[in-house]
Amino acid sequence: MNHLASSPLQGSCTLVGAGPGDPELLTLKAVKAIQAATVLLVDDLVNDEIVSAYARPDARIVHVGKRGGCKSTPQSFIEKLMITAVREGEHVVRLKGGDPFIFGRGGEEVEHLREEGIECAVVNGITAGLAAVTALGVPLTHRDHAQGVVFVTGHAKTGHAATEHPTDWRALAATARDARLTLVIYMGITGAHHIQQELLHGLAADTPVLVVQHASLAHQRQLTTTLGRLANDLAQEGFGSPAVIVVGDVVRGAAAVDAELPRRLANGD
Ligand code: SAH
Repeated sequence: MNHLASSPLQGSCTLVGAGPGDPELLTLKAVKAIQAATVLLVDDLVNDEIVSAYARPDARIVHVGKRGGCKSTPQSFIEKLMITAVREGEHVVRLKGGDPFIFGRGGEEVEHLREEGIECAVVNGITAGLAAVTALGVPLTHRDHAQGVVFVTGHAKTGHAATEHPTDWRALAATARDARLTLVIYMGITGAHHIQQELLHGLAADTPVLVVQHASLAHQRQLTTTLGRLANDLAQEGFGSPAVIVVGDVVRGAAAVDAELPRRLANGD
């Protein structure tokens, strides 16, 4: 059975990964789900072009982002909206940047909807960390440089739980060094100085680092630096969100990359 299908009496709910930005990086399944949606709840990292290209003209589109000076829509409100709409028979698509299950709170939404008796289908998207390095021709694993990858958030949940379980950057640095792992840090720009200082307890100051902002979009920017210079260079170059920080020897290949490549790829020349 096609998991996007549902009974005519009850609506459906699908969490869809919109990828890092470039509409051509959407999956076919994502496009089909967006085209079938009667209600679309759109996160702020989703490229508007995707919604204008594929949403039905009569679809109800709700932007639930944090940007543009607006406050973020509370998670509980978004979930209530989804539950109500599904019960009214709507085909609800929750469109999230990248992959819905990588730092997208997709797991929480699926759990909360399940508690209400609603099963959500999930459509993968290309996560930003993957797109960021690929756009520069850099692999995340390499037999000579990295045996694996860690996707980690630089911004743990705030509140009580975060103080009990802060990310142990020192342990992560030691593991990355000993097991030869690439670190892909999401939401790490604000905390870059702290992350850098902690990682330096286990990784050398000359460990290569790549930062990619707006990966896969025409205005993509990248910076190659070292762990020792990271926070300084970020401040100097004025890098902000959304960006991923990639730490490890695989990044060495990025220095050789033509800085004009992303622009030319986006322009198709
Ligand atoms: N679910 C998303 C991640 C959401 S968390 C995914 O799978 O990609 C938000 C963080 O993702 C941002 O702070 C940034 O670190 C990263 N991110 C999202 N889109 C990005 C992009 N186009 N370029 C670089 N980083 C991006």
